[in-house]
Amino acid sequence: MFNILKIVKLIIFNSSILLIMFLSNCLYAENIDIFAYESSNNIRLIFNSKNSLLSNVFILKNPPRLVLDIKNVNNISKNNSNFRYITKIRASKKNNTSRLVFDLNVAAIQLNKNNIIKKNGANTLLIDLTIDSINYNSTNFNNKIIVIDAGHGGADPGAIRRNIKEKHLTLIAAKILKKKLENKNFTVFLTRKSDHYIRLRNRVKFARKKSADLFISIHADSTKNKRTSGTSIYSLSEKASDKLSQALADRENKSDLIAGLDLDVLDKAVSDILIDLSRRETKNSSIDFAELFVEKLKRSGFNLLRRPHRQAGFAVLKAPDIPSVLIEMGFISNNNDLNKLTNPEFQDKLMNIIAMIIEEYFKPIN
Ligand SMILES: [Zn+2]
Repeated sequence: MFNILKIVKLIIFNSSILLIMFLSNCLYAENIDIFAYESSNNIRLIFNSKNSLLSNVFILKNPPRLVLDIKNVNNISKNNSNFRYITKIRASKKNNTSRLVFDLNVAAIQLNKNNIIKKNGANTLLIDLTIDSINYNSTNFNNKIIVIDAGHGGADPGAIRRNIKEKHLTLIAAKILKKKLENKNFTVFLTRKSDHYIRLRNRVKFARKKSADLFISIHADSTKNKRTSGTSIYSLSEKASDKLSQALADRENKSDLIAGLDLDVLDKAVSDILIDLSRRETKNSSIDFAELFVEKLKRSGFNLLRRPHRQAGFAVLKAPDIPSVLIEMGFISNNNDLNKLTNPEFQDKLMNIIAMIIEEYFKPIN
């Protein structure tokens, strides 16, 4: 049995400007914090501990692995890893030494172990691994996990017009998108598969539990001005970019107030520093996705809302470590949009391009 375990997060990011992928995984260890970052040509591992971090580290070929023997570490466990280059993390223990093995899907060229830094009683060990990114080319999306969230459900119908309910349109769209992504070898989970209500915070929790690489919430908008039409996409911001965005976020967030809940979605077990760090990366990744979305839809002749990428404080986008976007497929309040939203041909067309955008978003840059 494990002792009381400290939850530690492993983080990875691809620091390229155009397309940032951000994934996270957990390692459970006692007395040690482990962070892992991936950029396009480097893997960085950071170990923090109050105890001394006497260690031996080396790389192995065929298959490529990074091995780290470290003293005074107990009870390391982990969830399924979900990295781009690190395919698996294994841990074993012999006497007083724990061995961590990082299986890689890319050859390692150079290893740098930086000196242990002692600061405020904590020890830090930094390991940099240069990888052979030139010879890396993977378009296998098997390990990419997408969580699709059909907005509303059950007692919360969302927008309604002519007896057409937003909750039904979002579920239809989510199911179509799931199928299309599975055909592209993504792993896909739906927050809901039927007409029932899920709290907003639990939709976020679900995505984090599944270690999602991308969270997409699907909605259909409604506004007083019947002429307002077009598709739009939202990423998280504490400050809404305009009044329409604020009104929409307020309305969508009310979804949880129906059930009388607070909107606190942050996992308290995750440290503040980590949240800050991952929030920044996650925010950038979400923005990258939204920009790609707008560019592709524009080019394919879709009718977009004026300033189609907006930002607002949607509760459902608040996972600190998963790029998250909310797509408003169109306006139920607009006749033309309503016809499209209920038309299977349009539903298929829109979900098809979204699946293509997701594919492009995750394509490695070479
Ligand atoms: Zn909605």
